[in-house]
Amino acid sequence: MSSLQPVRGTHDLLPDDSRRHRHVEQTAFEVVKRYGYGEVVTPIFEFTEVFSRTLGETSDVVTKEMYTFADRSGDSITLRPEGTAGVARAFISGGLSQNLPLKLFYRGPMFRHERPQKGRLRQFHQVGVELLGVDSPQADVEVVSMAFRMLQALGLGDTVQLEINTLGDADSRTAYRDALIAYLEPFRDALSEDSRARLDKNPMRVLDSKDEGDKRIVAGAPLIQDCLTPGARAFFDEVCAGLTALAVPFVVNPKLVRGLDYYCHTAFEFITTALGAQGTVLAGGRYDGLIGQMGGPATPGIGWAAGVERLSMLVEDVPEAARPVAIIPMGDVQAAMVLADRLRAVGLAVDLGFSGNMKKRMARANKARARFAVILGDDEAARGAVTLRDLDSGSQEEVPLAALEERLLRP
Ligand code: ATP
Ligand code: MG
Repeated sequence: MSSLQPVRGTHDLLPDDSRRHRHVEQTAFEVVKRYGYGEVVTPIFEFTEVFSRTLGETSDVVTKEMYTFADRSGDSITLRPEGTAGVARAFISGGLSQNLPLKLFYRGPMFRHERPQKGRLRQFHQVGVELLGVDSPQADVEVVSMAFRMLQALGLGDTVQLEINTLGDADSRTAYRDALIAYLEPFRDALSEDSRARLDKNPMRVLDSKDEGDKRIVAGAPLIQDCLTPGARAFFDEVCAGLTALAVPFVVNPKLVRGLDYYCHTAFEFITTALGAQGTVLAGGRYDGLIGQMGGPATPGIGWAAGVERLSMLVEDVPEAARPVAIIPMGDVQAAMVLADRLRAVGLAVDLGFSGNMKKRMARANKARARFAVILGDDEAARGAVTLRDLDSGSQEEVPLAALEERLLRP
C-alpha cells in the first residue's frame, strides 16, 4: 500500500472526465423529470442490515462485495452497494406511504469490493429510479421505456439492446424453484462452490453464475416460462405489448435473472457489446416484496440503475463548456481583473491568466477555446476603449469599454 495512491478500484474525475460524468447524470435527470420523477438523496452509508436483509444472503453483493465496518459506536455500517435498499429504508423511516405513488430519481457513488477491471470499479456511480406503489404492468412499461428514452437522449439508442424477462409471481417461482432443483441436483458435484450454496438457499441465483462450468450446466435448465401462472403470464404479456406500442425494441431472454434476491415479474437489462465483458449498462426490475420484507407496509415497486462510468465510456457527444472570453492585459493587471469581474457578473465565462507575454497569453486563449480576446492596450485605455479580437475569424475592432458587455452578449 502506498498512501499517495488512490485506493485500488477508485478513480479521480478530472474536469474532462467529470464533464462527461455530469452530462450523463444530468441527461438522465432531465429525461426522468419529464415523467414526474423528483430527486431523493439518501446517505451513502446505512446500517448493515438495510442491505444484508434485503439483497439476500446469497447475492454476490452481500457475500463478497460489501464495504462493512464497525463505527466508533460499535454499529455495523455498510457503504451502500446499490440504491434501492436505501430508498426503501427512507420510504419506511420517513413514513411516506401516504404519498404513493412515489417517483424517485437518485444519483451518486456506490461501493463494492470486487476485482477492478475496465468498467468495474470499487467506487462507481449510478443514476437510478424507483417507482413505488403501482402494481400494474403499465408501471413496468413506464419505467423500462423511460430507461430507453434516457439512453436515446445520450445518443445510445442504437448501441444498446434491451433484454427482458419475467421472474413471475410467488407461485410461479415456487414451481420454478422445484423444477430447477430437480434439474440441478444431479449436477451438484459439478457446480462451483458458490452455486452449490445457491442451490440450497436460492437456486434461481445459479442461473446468474459467471462461472463457465456453471454456465454450461445452466444452458440445459428448465425455463421460468414453463412454470408461469396464468396471472404472471398475462402480466408479462401486457408489459411486452406496452413496450411494443411505444416502439421500444426488446428481446425476451428467458435466462435473464437479476443478481439481487428481491425481484419478481419484470426483470430487464440494457446491454452493449461495445464494452467487452462489462456490457450491462443499465439493469432493473420489479421488487414487490422488498418493502414488506424490510418491515414496512407492503408496497409494490419497480426501478432501475445505470452505471455512470459505463455510460460515460459510450457517450460520444458531450457538450463543451461555454466558450470563454480571454482578457489579455498589456499593462495593468488590476484593471484586467476589474474588467473580468464586470463581465462575469453578466454571466460570461472569462479566462484571465496571471502572467505571460502577449504571445503566451494568446496561446492560452486558444487552448481555452476562447471565442474572443479582449486586449487591454494603453493607447486604447486612454480612449476608454479595448481591442476585441474575434478568435474564429481573426478580425479585430475597437470597442468602447462601456459597450463591451453589450457587444460580447450579442448573439
Ligand atoms: P455486473 O453483472 O456487471 O456485476 P450487477 O448485476 O452487479 O452488474 P447492478 O447491481 O444491477 O449490477 O447495477 C446496475 C449497474 O451498475 C450495472 O449494470 C453497471 O452498469 C453498474 N455497475 C455495477 N457494478 C459496477 C462496478 N463495480 N463498477 C462500475 N459499474 C458497475
Ligand atoms: Mg456485480
